[in-house]
Amino acid sequence: MRIVLLGPPGAGKGTQARRLADSTGMKHLSTGDILRAEVAAKSELGLLAKGFMDTGDLVPDSNIIAMIQQYIDDPAGVLLDGFPRTVVQAESLDNSLEEAGLPVDKVVHMSVDTDELVKRLSTRAICKNCQTPYNLESDPPAKAGVCDNCGGEVTVRDDDKPEAVLNRMKVYQELTAPVLDYYKSRGDVAEIIATGTPDSVFEKLSQAIGSGVASN
Ligand SMILES: [Zn+2]
Repeated sequence: MRIVLLGPPGAGKGTQARRLADSTGMKHLSTGDILRAEVAAKSELGLLAKGFMDTGDLVPDSNIIAMIQQYIDDPAGVLLDGFPRTVVQAESLDNSLEEAGLPVDKVVHMSVDTDELVKRLSTRAICKNCQTPYNLESDPPAKAGVCDNCGGEVTVRDDDKPEAVLNRMKVYQELTAPVLDYYKSRGDVAEIIATGTPDSVFEKLSQAIGSGVASN
């Protein structure tokens, strides 16, 4: 089974994908992890990708897809996390999977209300000195703005501030709305609202995938 998991930054895709991989034995394919592994292994693709990464350029879709293809026929099934991000990527992924006779079985879209996302990300804080994570609502430092561990400054990352989150959401919507439409036009997309506790989101995700298995 090949599952594509889509969702905005902050929806908890990585966390849920790891959990799902642990509970089902499916292989979790995160393009970031694959890139790092290929670069570390100094594979041909890794060296090629490193050239782009070193100059700050995006690694071309064709290279990413070639990397993914090496893992896609895992008999345990694969879970694609955060890929494809654009329609061009989705089309080339589909073309190469269909050639291999391994089409995508299920697309799950994890959606989060923008207000909720802004709140979730803008309460995330970190110590500038020792990197200890805090949550300003559920797990704040004892003294506001001061790290419990080292006395360093606890701040919200610039890209987690409300204006930045809204901008990341806008970029995501522009790029990903067409990807969703693309998959919807081809068949089954399961929509889950990724609000609530990680446990309740995981339950929704498992159900969405379970129904996918049943209908195939
Ligand atoms: Zn600290």
